[in-house]
Amino acid sequence: MFHVAVVGAGAIGNPIAWGLSLRKDLAPIQLIDGDVVERSNLARQPWFGEDDIGCNKAVTLAARLAGGETPLYASPEMLTQSNREILLADADIVMDATDNWEARLVIQEWAEQHQRPWIFNSAVRLEGMSTRLDPGGPCLRCWFDTKETQGPACFEAGVLGSVTLAVAGRALLLLDDWIRQGSSPDQGTLWLIDRRFGSDRSIHSGPLRCDHGGHG
Ligand SMILES: [Zn+2]
Repeated sequence: MFHVAVVGAGAIGNPIAWGLSLRKDLAPIQLIDGDVVERSNLARQPWFGEDDIGCNKAVTLAARLAGGETPLYASPEMLTQSNREILLADADIVMDATDNWEARLVIQEWAEQHQRPWIFNSAVRLEGMSTRLDPGGPCLRCWFDTKETQGPACFEAGVLGSVTLAVAGRALLLLDDWIRQGSSPDQGTLWLIDRRFGSDRSIHSGPLRCDHGGHG
């Protein structure tokens, strides 16, 4: 059974973890987050309540979702370059539910080193994005100039709750495709939702081959 690691237990990580916990075909699900619950989180992170303020998000979420089809366990640390090998040692695939590009680059470098896929997710203000990044396919740096992309994190910019739910739902579908098929037409496709225009769309990378240092 596949071992899924979810990095981030906030607005995207909450519904992703819930969706994963309903599957019967996963190894225990790992939730990685060093942050604590704050009052401002409660509106968009519905598995947290008043009593959880000040408690670690990963620990709290793993406990809240206990009793589903698959158990969850917490790694109450921030993912960094120095702990990534230990924290992601068992992971077959990583779900990005972070809100910053630094952490995403840590995941990308881990994925290159170990030739593993990961699912990139982002939600800021009224915009959301999701794509699966497979070994040998386009990487995060192919899609974005990651030096320029350090925009505001969602806690600074604010984010629409329906956008985070849409992104989490898309990420769960991408994971489902990967589990069932190993690859899917979504490979090399970036899905975007932008509520300013009220629509979503997909951008295809074409037959792009990454030469950013992956070993594919
Ligand atoms: Zn690349």
